[in-house]
Amino acid sequence: MARGGAGRGLDLHVHSTCSDGLDEVEEVVALAARAGLEGLALTDHDTFEGLDRARAAADVHGLELVPGVEFSAELDGWSVHLLGLWVDPAEPVLLAELARLRNERSDRAERIAARLAELGAPVSMARVRELAGSAPIGRPHLAAAVVQAGHATSEREVFDRWLHDGGPAHVPKHAVEPRRAVELLHGAGGVAVLAHPAIRGPEGAPVLTDAVIADLAAAGLDGLEVDHPDHPHPVRDRLRALAARLDLVVTGGSDHHGAVKAQRVGDATTTREAVERLRSRRGRSVSP
Ligand code: AMP
Ligand code: MN
Ligand code: MN
Ligand code: MN
Repeated sequence: MARGGAGRGLDLHVHSTCSDGLDEVEEVVALAARAGLEGLALTDHDTFEGLDRARAAADVHGLELVPGVEFSAELDGWSVHLLGLWVDPAEPVLLAELARLRNERSDRAERIAARLAELGAPVSMARVRELAGSAPIGRPHLAAAVVQAGHATSEREVFDRWLHDGGPAHVPKHAVEPRRAVELLHGAGGVAVLAHPAIRGPEGAPVLTDAVIADLAAAGLDGLEVDHPDHPHPVRDRLRALAARLDLVVTGGSDHHGAVKAQRVGDATTTREAVERLRSRRGRSVSP
């Protein structure tokens, strides 16, 4: 994207070391500046931890920081993610669910480690906890520990062999249903965007069918992350048409995690106009 030109857009989906990204908050903000973006949303998994640092760094670079979180939900045992934007990080009901998720992630990591040991890829939980630091523990922290223990040569290989959704060492985490997730994010004063909606379940069947997305739209979902590096262009075209039909704001985000994944800050963006449409949906009333 041209640097300094009009319509540089905002990347509304970025991770840091505050969850399972490899880059510090200040680094991802600097990457957004270097990519010539107008701003970014920091959307770490199930935590608001990095937001103050992100705001300070964004001020230094003259960027807009949209405070965010990538909030875990669950549908029929499959993981569904919602980006919560402009959410109040002190809202008690949402905070309670985030605390529950953090505990759930910690217990689940122990269960995943036990499975990995049975499958011949033992890791030390002390090392996994060290890698996560104060972040909610995610599968990428376990994958990194497996590589460090010499059982695989890349995190990609660990996911492909053991940790992918439905894989032999994958333990699902229990989370609220997507409808409830939308309600919690609204209750905390934010808007809700369905992240990477083209995720696939068993035998490649879509987890989020058009009917499920329509149901979420009726429950007040605000936006659809059409532009995501994992979405091929024909999929984006189909999702863009669905968003138009359901009056959902089209967003884009890179889902940057650092060197562990190919995509970089700015590889997908949201237009200024879409950001303003989303912002204006804060606090809009939704019929039950
Ligand atoms: P968790 O929240 O612990 O279930 O971990 C989910 C995270 O693992 C995602 O946000 C990605 O960062 C990463 N991930 C999930 N599936 C894969 C995969 N197949 N290959 C690589 N990374 C993955
Ligand atoms: Mn992740
Ligand atoms: Mn996600
Ligand atoms: Mn993400």
